Amino acid sequence: MSQIGDWLREDVRDVRVVAKSDVVVVGGGPAGLSAAIGAARNGARVTLLERYNHLGGLAAGGMVLVLDDMWDSHLREISVRGNCLEMIERMASLGLAQFPREDEWGSDPASQRRWGRWGTFDFHSHEKPHPICFAAAFDPDAWKRVSLDLVQQHGIDLRLHSWFSRTLVEDGKVKGVICDTKAGRQAILGDVVIDATGDLDVAASASAPHVGGSYIMTTVFRLGGVDAEEAERFEREEPEAFDAMDREVKRVLGGSWAKWWLRTPLPGVVWCNAPHIAGLDGTRVEDLTKVEIEGRKAIHRTVDFLRTRLPGFESCFVVDVAPQTGVRQTRLLEGEYVMSKDDVVNRVRFADSVARGRDYYYPYRSLLPRGIDNLIVAGRHYSATSAAQKMSREIPPCMAMGEAAGVAAALAVDAGVSVRNVDVQKVQRTLRAQGADPGDREGCNPDVPAIARAARQRVEALA
Ligand SMILES: Cc1cc2nc3c(=O)[nH]c(=O)nc-3n(C[C@H](O)[C@H](O)[C@H](O)COP(=O)(O)OP(=O)(O)OC[C@H]3O[C@@H](n4cnc5c(N)ncnc54)[C@H](O)[C@@H]3O)c2cc1C
Repeated sequence: MSQIGDWLREDVRDVRVVAKSDVVVVGGGPAGLSAAIGAARNGARVTLLERYNHLGGLAAGGMVLVLDDMWDSHLREISVRGNCLEMIERMASLGLAQFPREDEWGSDPASQRRWGRWGTFDFHSHEKPHPICFAAAFDPDAWKRVSLDLVQQHGIDLRLHSWFSRTLVEDGKVKGVICDTKAGRQAILGDVVIDATGDLDVAASASAPHVGGSYIMTTVFRLGGVDAEEAERFEREEPEAFDAMDREVKRVLGGSWAKWWLRTPLPGVVWCNAPHIAGLDGTRVEDLTKVEIEGRKAIHRTVDFLRTRLPGFESCFVVDVAPQTGVRQTRLLEGEYVMSKDDVVNRVRFADSVARGRDYYYPYRSLLPRGIDNLIVAGRHYSATSAAQKMSREIPPCMAMGEAAGVAAALAVDAGVSVRNVDVQKVQRTLRAQGADPGDREGCNPDVPAIARAARQRVEALA
């Protein structure tokens, strides 16, 4: 009779091949969706695999509802473009994304008053309050809806409810993946596989070198029935009472950033990027279970407190707790190049840069595993030290990495070469031609994207 801690051997089983594509993307979060689009737009047949019933990863199921780190405060420009801006544009056309335009960026008090509780500020600035910058607040269901539209528009073969479990490797080359599904195990084959699981599941299964990282985890939630105007009035007109109350709320919550609630495009609904819990591992079932139990206790404790004490929150209620747990960092690739904190802080540029974040740049080598071919990695598990990843893992740069990985995969398939030998300059040119900024050129982009122009300029452009 086996005991806890013993090892059992599974029977060898036959697995049916259910799909075959040029490019297989595992994980339908911001990086995976962007990778699938990047590859399909360049002629590749793409299969996109996702474990849940929706696309979006932390941006949708994780209810992380502000797209930031796409504003370069040194060059004063929008630094992440391409698929990320298209996503914002499409959600805005549904009335489900909000962002400050060019004439609202900066420290003007009217702009602060308008945007102060939307999370659209430059939180890296030492100025207080932080200046308003380009960032977008959005609705999670809009993200899911637009993602499905984009997948269909690009002819991507989407397989939801497919939980990746093993990478198929032959002679040092990745050949495909195996997923667990309700219908049993299924094999999906591809010439190139892109790991966009966020936790490096595919590369780790292929024994690619990696390290274990860790950061706070968060049980993100939304509250409805909030009178946000009244809450903001209290903050503005009674600053001392507000500060004292805010400190108490944070004590009850047990871990949060400075602004623990932010507005969303839905009236009366705010999102709370809290409570945080430190010291847990986002790949361990025990820790993932603990964060849900402890997080929910803290949320309900906080709601009881808010209802009796905080102006504007008297009638608040929990709308939902994010179905995807707020895991920021787990396994990190040790790839052909490992990004350091100095690379991020010093804005180091690379000849093979294929993606740009705020004011930091990702070399193509940081997406390539060592010792294994036909595999590209994109998203929060890219090749970086733990400290560097904490500063360079936001949704927009993950989309930029994904777009670059998708383009590189399609060009490699088209040229009949391995992803390691793809023409990086062609990847950069292709990304630029499609509206992305691969970070390969010094200085500013020549334009402010149409979506961000001041209202007056947009009217003139239409006239
Ligand atoms: C609480 C919290 C707050 C944050 N705040 C912000 C913020 O305000 N602004 C910002 O821009 N960024 C923020 N971030 C960071 C940002 O959300 C993530 O870094 C980003 O979403 C990573 O994108 P990704 O595509 O790499 O991974 P993910 O978003 O994690 O997507 C991974 C996808 O892969 C799927 N997947 C995973 N494993 C498997 C498997 N085995 N089989 C099949 N599918 C699988 C997942 O279901 C998911 O859809 C925050 C993160 C957290 C956790």
